[in-house]
Amino acid sequence: MSFRSFLKQMEDVGEVIYIKERVSPIFEVSAVMQSLISPNTPIAFFENIEGYNDVNIVGNVCATRKRICDALGVTEDKLYEKIIEAMNNPEKPTIVEDSPVKEIIEEPKLSKIPVLRHFEHDAGPYITSAIVSAKSPDGGRVENVSIHRLLVLDERRLSIRLVPRHLFKMWSMARDAGKDLDVAIAIGVHPAVLLAAASSPPFGVSEFAVANKLLNSRLRLLMCQKVDAYAPAESEIILEGRISKDEETMEGPFVDITGAYDARRPQPVIEVVNVMRREKYIYHALLPGGPEHLLLMGLPREAAIYEAVSKVVPGVKAVNLSTGGCGWLHAIISIEKQTDGDAKNALLAAFAAHPSLKHAVVVDSDINVFSLEEVEWAIATRFQANEDLVVIHNVRGSTLDPSADMKTGLTTKVGIDATRPLRVPKEMFEKARIPVTRRAQKIIEDIKRRGQACIY
Ligand code: MN
Repeated sequence: MSFRSFLKQMEDVGEVIYIKERVSPIFEVSAVMQSLISPNTPIAFFENIEGYNDVNIVGNVCATRKRICDALGVTEDKLYEKIIEAMNNPEKPTIVEDSPVKEIIEEPKLSKIPVLRHFEHDAGPYITSAIVSAKSPDGGRVENVSIHRLLVLDERRLSIRLVPRHLFKMWSMARDAGKDLDVAIAIGVHPAVLLAAASSPPFGVSEFAVANKLLNSRLRLLMCQKVDAYAPAESEIILEGRISKDEETMEGPFVDITGAYDARRPQPVIEVVNVMRREKYIYHALLPGGPEHLLLMGLPREAAIYEAVSKVVPGVKAVNLSTGGCGWLHAIISIEKQTDGDAKNALLAAFAAHPSLKHAVVVDSDINVFSLEEVEWAIATRFQANEDLVVIHNVRGSTLDPSADMKTGLTTKVGIDATRPLRVPKEMFEKARIPVTRRAQKIIEDIKRRGQACIY
């Protein structure tokens, strides 16, 4: 299952637009990608890249929920189940020796890759769609795959943002053993692999095994040539490298999910030692803060929240990490409430399942979590701050939130129980309806048919 086959599948259903005009990877590709954002953001395939002949750029690939569901072969109402099932039943992928990614094997020269400069004040060109895979330095007992932003420093070196999660832990293990950490950096992989790499199964579970389960056992891996790490055999391009045990550089500024610049910090350096790629490859560009970024990061967390809340309340209907909340900091959860404590238990479970979550709203199942109008209406008509507000002080949140305490990383979390209290008759909280007679229905349809022709 390859990136290419998915693009072909999307082309067949009219989801791809082709851009024949010559564009530069410096600000122009990102400007066009951003201009195309809408509720149905199309995939943008750039055919003519200034200064690059053997590569095309494709952007906004996983930019809609529907498209990610299509990639996984599920309907939207089965998406969380599919992700949870894969997380709980990871399955080892097949290892293969040969692959089209070996068409060209060459010395690293990173300027040959059309890495985008996205935003005005970014520190430089950033690779944003790469999955980074590594085996633990203790003989490879544990494998990890995750997505990291990579700043191109020169022809052979990248800096990598390592938040203290699993890859950071492996790199620390290697450093303690006096070794660099081998990594495979793969670009142009199937959406299921991206989604798995963005999910957080416990340390010890390989995200490749989660991806393989998502792909119904069709993921194939390839061992790198110069480093001890696996990469998807059907990647468009693979960079083999080592995260240095001691070399660091200042990394950032970089625009992350909030759409604001993330801070500059000292971060580790990767030396790239080998490149494998298809002869004419497709470079996957991912716009920071764009819908693809938010969905890939957010969907696995929505699934985790869904699963955690399902354990404490009898019925969870839907979860939305809303785009206004950066697909990361705000959750809206709808539940079938049985007792008056349910919504608060749901809030606690949600904060535990997604530690970066900052504000959460729980609504009844008659509220559409994807309609912020309806959610606001529920807060306006079903919420009383003196009893329905949960405030948790001094907890760890997201480092990406510019309003969090930068020194301590601590934040304050707020939960809003906007479900109706059960002691008051239900009818008081329902949206009133107007009965529509058959005659009124016919008049309404006639008016709609006249539509624009009417001049008032
Ligand atoms: Mn992991």
